[in-house]
Amino acid sequence: MNKSTKNVMVLGGGLAGLSCAEKLLDAGFAVTILEKDNHLGGLAASFEVEGEWIPKFYHHIVRSNKYTIAALTRFGVMTGAKWQRVRMSLGVNGKLYELRKLWEFFRMPGSSVWAKLRFAAFGAYTILKPTVPKISAQENAQDWLYKYCGKEATDYFWWNLYGRNKFNIPLSQISASQFSQRLWEKEGYDYFTFPPKGLQPMIEGFSREIQKKGGVIVLSARLSALDLAAKTLIYNGKKDTFDILVNTIPVPELIKFSHGFPDEYVTSIRKLRYCPAVGLCFATEDWLKEGVYWINLFGERVQVVMQHSVLCDKYKGKVTWCIRYGGSEEDIGLSDEQIIREYTACLKKYFPNAKFLWIKVFKEKYAEPVYDKDYVSYAPSYRTPLAWIYHAGIQVTFPKIRNQNVALESGYKVAEMIVQDAHECTNNP
Ligand SMILES: Cc1cc2nc3c(=O)[nH]c(=O)nc-3n(C[C@H](O)[C@H](O)[C@H](O)COP(=O)(O)OP(=O)(O)OC[C@H]3O[C@@H](n4cnc5c(N)ncnc54)[C@H](O)[C@@H]3O)c2cc1C
Repeated sequence: MNKSTKNVMVLGGGLAGLSCAEKLLDAGFAVTILEKDNHLGGLAASFEVEGEWIPKFYHHIVRSNKYTIAALTRFGVMTGAKWQRVRMSLGVNGKLYELRKLWEFFRMPGSSVWAKLRFAAFGAYTILKPTVPKISAQENAQDWLYKYCGKEATDYFWWNLYGRNKFNIPLSQISASQFSQRLWEKEGYDYFTFPPKGLQPMIEGFSREIQKKGGVIVLSARLSALDLAAKTLIYNGKKDTFDILVNTIPVPELIKFSHGFPDEYVTSIRKLRYCPAVGLCFATEDWLKEGVYWINLFGERVQVVMQHSVLCDKYKGKVTWCIRYGGSEEDIGLSDEQIIREYTACLKKYFPNAKFLWIKVFKEKYAEPVYDKDYVSYAPSYRTPLAWIYHAGIQVTFPKIRNQNVALESGYKVAEMIVQDAHECTNNP
């Protein structure tokens, strides 16, 4: 290595860490990725079942995900992917009501016809209006929705969909700008796909390219101390040094073992909370509900059901995920057997004929930052108060929807910043 080559440590081998590492290697930096798991991919990692790689959690790709599509295409995964608009249903009291079948939707119990009309009109408005309305940074989702969608429709539909089922906090505490950004990205109305070869070849492709370009990947890395001022860190009992550090691991984990950030900065970023996710991935002999991809259940322990085989029907049996986000901290400590018992009991209310072929349990403590109304005031951004210490990953991508696309984008973006900062530093020593 050239003596002037800057040595970058990237914490975390999810998509943000991988995209950042590769871009920095292309720019001539020396890069080491430290990943705690024995595999790469983070939230987008996959498991193998009957010779197929399936993500731990549902992962659809929509047409506007240009970074994800570029990465999947580059690693040869998109061949044969079929794009489609998806059908969605809401479920309550053991029955499903499909959104685009108005005669079903208007029979759904729990709200008046007027509230349903407001909800439907609001949905049409978000599809037709091209740009996000102007919203102040601190406005909350409840006040904002009351104005546009009415109180009853908000208190019933949006509370269940985005308050209870997403973060399990009142809509009055959720950021209106993140909520509206989510609607105006029009994810639900976009075309969906899933690559027939899965996500795993993309993760393996990044890993291969990084190593080919001289990058080092350390799996099962146990980080025990990080001294930001001295630029040293200890992992697996070994002390190492760095010139630049990019953090992509959840901030609550980083601050457990790091020293050197100013106290007021730590007090601020410590406010960042994450929502966990607990779910089952399973195959059934037949469809739970033919043709419907996305099902939101109201008032149930299981909140979202995604019939993956609607996007990619190539497995033995039909593959589906069911997930609990809001309130799932209650379930994270349960045994796999308890989770399977509780979640399948809930599914059986809606799909009594389901015959399970296999079931896997997945738990994730850091599934998504809780985008509350004060998020911008305390959340980390790419740069930190310390020169040469940066963040990337889903904690810095507010108000965009947390997905693979923003994770990849954040990795590329932080790498560009580092290249630019290094350039300026050379020009103005
Ligand atoms: C339930 C669920 C559904 C989703 N659905 C979709 C979808 O449909 N479409 C889509 O595009 N995206 C979806 N996503 C989001 C997508 O998976 C993420 O946005 C993306 O993978 C995040 O990448 P990241 O690198 O920012 O974070 P992560 O993937 O979280 O990467 C962080 C990495 O840091 C590692 N790490 C943590 N602590 C330490 C430590 N102490 N030391 C070293 N390493 C550490 C982790 O193991 C992980 O590998 C979903 C996510 C979830 C949880």
